[in-house]
Order: sequence, then structure tokens, then C-alpha cells
Amino acid sequence: MKSDISTLTEEIVKFRDRRDWKQFHNAKDLALALSIEASELNELFLWKTHDEYDAQRLADELADVLTYALLLAHETKLDVRNIIRSKMEKNKKRYPVKKSKGLAKKYNEI
Ligand SMILES: [Mg+2]
Repeated sequence: MKSDISTLTEEIVKFRDRRDWKQFHNAKDLALALSIEASELNELFLWKTHDEYDAQRLADELADVLTYALLLAHETKLDVRNIIRSKMEKNKKRYPVKKSKGLAKKYNEI
């Protein structure tokens, strides 16, 4: 059975391929697009208080970020579930609950 992530990625790839945009989707440009979309998301918060944002615009920009993240994983043949689980295992070691609970510090500062 396919995961929701696989199904969603297939939908995005189908959307992309019907428009013949695969030719533009190398890892470098997808990484740049991801970063640019993350900046567009950040811009929604610029010069505002932390809870002052447009929810619909946030949803749209977050969708852009996630779409490029899924495309980048697809093009580089990375399994999204595996890389997230692998990174979480590393983070469990970097941030043991006993040392990091309630702290907003980087692992090398705890
Ligand atoms: Mg955008």
C-alpha cells in the first residue's frame, strides 16, 4: 500500500510533467526554489508580532515549501519517511529528553 506521501508526490509530479517542467527540476534549482518559498513564508511574519499573519497566505506558502521539498526528495531519490525517521533518531541522541526538555538550545549548548 502506498503512503500518503507517495500518493501526494505522484500528484505533484503528474502536475509538473503535464506542463513539461521536469526539464527545470534539477536538485540545485529545486533547492533554490525551496529556499525562496521558505523566504516567502518568512515574509508573512516580517515586521509583525508572532501571531499576526494571514492564515490563507500561510497555507499557500507552506504548501509551496512542502511541494518543493517533496519534489527535491523525488528527484534525488530520497525516501521522505526514511530520511525523516533517520534524522529523528539522530536528534533523539543529540537532544536526550533529560537534558533538553523545556530548553530552546542547540544540542551543542545543552
Ligand atoms: Mg510562494
